[in-house]
Amino acid sequence: MSQVWLFDIDGTLIHSGGAGETAAVRTVASLFQVDETHGETHFAGRTDRAIMWDIFRFHQIEQNEANWNRFQAAYVTELQNQLQQRPGGVLPGVVQLVEAIQQQFARPIGLLTGNTEAAAWIKLKHFAIDHLFHFGGFGDQHCDRNDVAQSAMKNAARQLQQEVTPEQIWVVGDTPNDIRCARSIGANVIAVATGNFSFQQLAEHQPDLVIHDLTDPAVHEVVTGD
Ligand SMILES: [Mg+2]
Repeated sequence: MSQVWLFDIDGTLIHSGGAGETAAVRTVASLFQVDETHGETHFAGRTDRAIMWDIFRFHQIEQNEANWNRFQAAYVTELQNQLQQRPGGVLPGVVQLVEAIQQQFARPIGLLTGNTEAAAWIKLKHFAIDHLFHFGGFGDQHCDRNDVAQSAMKNAARQLQQEVTPEQIWVVGDTPNDIRCARSIGANVIAVATGNFSFQQLAEHQPDLVIHDLTDPAVHEVVTGD
């Protein structure tokens, strides 16, 4: 069966030294004249929309489309600044795995990320891996990552111009939320411990496979069906 692969970005394909988080907090501070604190807001595995709504709430900034659009426009510039200033890189095994998938199935490879679409492509471009991916589900509109998974599946079918069944889909991510959102659409899921969660923490959520990083031969066996 031909597989459809959907990759999370932060902690899965790349690490950016916290560029996204810092850029988001700085952008809000300068646009809305507040300080750079953000209370108890969690970032990993959540959509940008959900994260920003929490930060807006914390600073009593009104959660409306006008403020969201103002934020997004300024955020992309600050994100580029932060990426330039920080150490970061493509995580081990990413390029080899994506190339192996490309070779096996010769079809577009997707993203399933909480990043806004603009931020996603900026990050991938910064690390020169944007050309490996062709479509995705993004965190611009949805607060719940499960809705992003739905959107990624729909966009996969559109991109491939054929029906995509959940059994064909393999989601790769570094957080329990990645596992949950994959399950919500009935997809297979591989958890990789290159982000903020340990191998054991991820294993508790029972993905189909847990690996320390994407160099693990087990993930290549999924691709080749061995
Ligand atoms: Mg992640």
